[in-house]
Amino acid sequence: MKIAVAGFQHETNSFAGTVAARGDFDRPGGWPPFCAGEEMMRIISGAGTPASGALAAASRQGVEILPLLWCIGLPSGPVEDAAFEDIADDICTRLRDALELGADALYLDLHGAMATPSWPDAEGELLARLRRIAPAPFPIAASFDLHGNISEAMTRACTLLDCYRTYPHTDLKDTGARVMERLIGHLRGHPAPFVAFRAVPYLASINDQCTFVEPTRGLLAKGEGLEADDRIDSVTQFFGFPLADVADAGPSIVVQGRDGRAVEEAADAMLAAWLEAEPRFATKLLTADEAVAQAIELAAGPGTGPVVIADTQDNPGGGGTGDTTGMLQALIAAKAAGAVLVHIADADACAKAHEAGVGGTIDRAIGAELSKRFCEPVPGPWTVIKLGSGDFTGVGPMYRGNPISLGPVALLEQDGVRVIVAPRKMQASEPGLLLHLGLNPADLPIMVVKSSVHFRGAYQEMARAILPAIAPGAVEADLSRLPYRHAQRKPARPFSPNPKRSNA
Ligand SMILES: [Zn+2]
Repeated sequence: MKIAVAGFQHETNSFAGTVAARGDFDRPGGWPPFCAGEEMMRIISGAGTPASGALAAASRQGVEILPLLWCIGLPSGPVEDAAFEDIADDICTRLRDALELGADALYLDLHGAMATPSWPDAEGELLARLRRIAPAPFPIAASFDLHGNISEAMTRACTLLDCYRTYPHTDLKDTGARVMERLIGHLRGHPAPFVAFRAVPYLASINDQCTFVEPTRGLLAKGEGLEADDRIDSVTQFFGFPLADVADAGPSIVVQGRDGRAVEEAADAMLAAWLEAEPRFATKLLTADEAVAQAIELAAGPGTGPVVIADTQDNPGGGGTGDTTGMLQALIAAKAAGAVLVHIADADACAKAHEAGVGGTIDRAIGAELSKRFCEPVPGPWTVIKLGSGDFTGVGPMYRGNPISLGPVALLEQDGVRVIVAPRKMQASEPGLLLHLGLNPADLPIMVVKSSVHFRGAYQEMARAILPAIAPGAVEADLSRLPYRHAQRKPARPFSPNPKRSNA
């Protein structure tokens, strides 16, 4: 038995004001580089991706793998058409070769929320092209991110599919393994499942999607309950990526199983639960100043661990530029001594800090290079507290074991407020960067992280309190403020009880 394996992931934020070019898939921060063929086997086998779990599962079952290619781009504005065509063509060519070598099936490691200027449903287009090369009933199985904006066309092109069951995502390998095992089971005689698709008729803000809390925790538990029925193979719930102005943006439910009626009934039951849950998608969000004031008060009170402020609107994992300064300005204005912000992307500030050396000073404003439309750089002088190479290994639940290379990083300080600067952006879900600069997160009074939910994987248990907050940035938390033109669904109501806001 031979299974071809390919991966191509991107999460597209239509409002980010940036693009993903072909080069952005070569060395994305925190993830394996673009790789193909035998090199892909070596790199992906040792990584923490869904395809890594799929390869391990195939190996356990003695299945031969035909590696095509694997790549990921960090979330941003649309993938350029040329980049999509280049990578999609490469996958198609390699699939044709694999078929000549006798491939029995194809496993795909996809995100589900990739868009290009020409292809708002980019995975749907990729799957359509692959289907022209390998028409049904050739088995094609795909694992997706839970943030996939799934089209019905996508579900029809796949023989079977599934997505992560966690946000923060800590089950990437498990998901890839589960899909690969179902695919192998199908090749060994388990019939192709009936598939029911339901689009949930509202958008859910990513701040409201954490699976540690309601309503998503209960929705996942209900799905698991339905899966206990042996007529059902899988109850897959996509939460969707709402910062995408595409027709299919939003949550969806895909139920698969061997009994068509049971599959439809389970999909209806799951949709009813989502409709009932709508008013509970409403996380309280604070302004930057409110969050810092509360954090100072909480840090001075009882308890242990840091007060963690989530700078959700500059989450690089949602397409943020990683260089907004609203939270840093709020920390400095409130003289939040001991607070650490993780991190601002500013390559020039890093170079200047390394020139100045530890104990030196740089008189240079930092941040707001890519996010000028939201905020201003924060003026110096900054004292250089610590320097690092920016090369470290992931230790958190999301990036554990992944080699991470940000380039030369620095810890800077002004009036007791500290900020990490790095040449490249990366979501602050990984404690490895703090440890690399001699900081122990557990000892900090206040920490600001550029993340919406993934940081909770590392910090939920350690934190004295978690305060999701909004400073101006590209990852808009209040979906009702976004100028959607193509999305078919409206934000969940009532919307998150946001404070009054003056920023554009
Ligand atoms: Zn995701």
